[in-house]
Amino acid sequence: TYILGIETSCDETAVAIVKNGTEVISNVVASQIDSHKRFGGVVPEIASRHHVEQITVVLEEALTESGLNWEDIHAITVTEGPGLVGALLIGVNAAKAISFAKQKPLVGVHHIAGHIYANRLEQEFDFPLLALIVSGGHTELVLMKEHGSYEVIGETRDDAAGEAYDKVARMLELPYPGGPQIDRLASEGEVTIDFPRAWLEEDSYDFSFSGLKSAVINKIHNAKQRGETLKNEDIAASFQASVVDVLSTKTLKAAKQYNVKQVIVAGGVAANNGLRTVLKEKFSSTNIPLLIPPLHLCTDNAAMIAAAGTIAYEKGARSGLDLNGNPSLLLK
Ligand code: ATP
Ligand code: MG
Ligand code: FE
Repeated sequence: TYILGIETSCDETAVAIVKNGTEVISNVVASQIDSHKRFGGVVPEIASRHHVEQITVVLEEALTESGLNWEDIHAITVTEGPGLVGALLIGVNAAKAISFAKQKPLVGVHHIAGHIYANRLEQEFDFPLLALIVSGGHTELVLMKEHGSYEVIGETRDDAAGEAYDKVARMLELPYPGGPQIDRLASEGEVTIDFPRAWLEEDSYDFSFSGLKSAVINKIHNAKQRGETLKNEDIAASFQASVVDVLSTKTLKAAKQYNVKQVIVAGGVAANNGLRTVLKEKFSSTNIPLLIPPLHLCTDNAAMIAAAGTIAYEKGARSGLDLNGNPSLLLK
């Protein structure tokens, strides 16, 4: 089966075609990062406008690149949520238009299911598996007992990991998106500050990053008032050490408790070098295989939506032409 995927939940306009849920046939991503950079973050109105301008171009490019015709495509899958509502609507409406015009089944996909299924484009899943999702808007531990079934066993109670990275980066006056900048600085610094780790209740797999973010901000303010100089590299390294410690410790604990056969990492923060290194280290002493996708599959793309959409399609999921963008869609 050839499945077409469309993703417009945030600031990437993306269309891809995936074969059998595992093989990327074409994968086109138009990023808007440059347009949002000067505002220090994604501006929803600008994002929607760019999606409108880009969607047909990206769609055509994905089809041309694949060498396929519309007759070859079995279904149209699209990110239904969560995300920015105005941005989601552009993709959803494009998908509905194609579904109607070309008479193809339509399937709405959860964005985070997409991030998880990006991994299946690299390696076949082995259940039960544990997915650590760390992105701009989500920090979750998801247990999967079979394809298309998602049990959220832990999630952030406040900021997402990527959000914390971006906010701390702003404090350090680094350009957007801040995650990669902090990652780079961290590799040049030393862990000199003992920032807090929010472990929460003993048996909880939830996360919290707002306390850490405040601690970093206070540290910077206090140092300024006292006339002390803190190296940005050391702040970045110390902040990253705290984030990575909590993420990796909880992931390892959950992997053991649920006796999983595989651990996969997904979302933009999966690109983080500190996190990749520590996770590899921790899992190397277990016999649980750890899968971290290549960078271009960590951040938003439509191949992951088509991959997750393939499973939903095969399980018989269908959306009607009343499909709507849902900014707070739940993963289930
Ligand atoms: P969501 O998937 O939750 O809707 P999103 O799609 O905006 O949010 P992604 O595109 O998956 O999120 O990831 C973007 C986030 O990843 C940003 O917060 C960015 O700063 C962060 N990020 C990217 N690279 C790195 C890195 N090397 N280290 C830390 N964070 C990073
Ligand atoms: Mg993005
Ligand atoms: Fe995302």
